[in-house]
Amino acid sequence: MEIIKQEKAITNCIIKNEKGDMCAGHLKEYLTASEEIKKQMPAKQSVYRCRRCLALYTMPKQDHLQGSKSGVLLPPQKL
Ligand SMILES: [Zn+2]
Repeated sequence: MEIIKQEKAITNCIIKNEKGDMCAGHLKEYLTASEEIKKQMPAKQSVYRCRRCLALYTMPKQDHLQGSKSGVLLPPQKL
């Protein structure tokens, strides 16, 4: 299974379909990731899964990014 590595945390899926449309599904932390996936995961990162196409991402934990000086941060999402 392919895991997309993101250096910056994102909140929506960036996978494109054959037509070039972005999936834009909401990413949710994937707490029940298998050991196989966890082994591929860099330290201090977390696994996220798209709720729409089920693509897997590893990226920095979004909590850790709050208050960071680098880059533009998205506001916390209201559920
Ligand atoms: Zn998706």
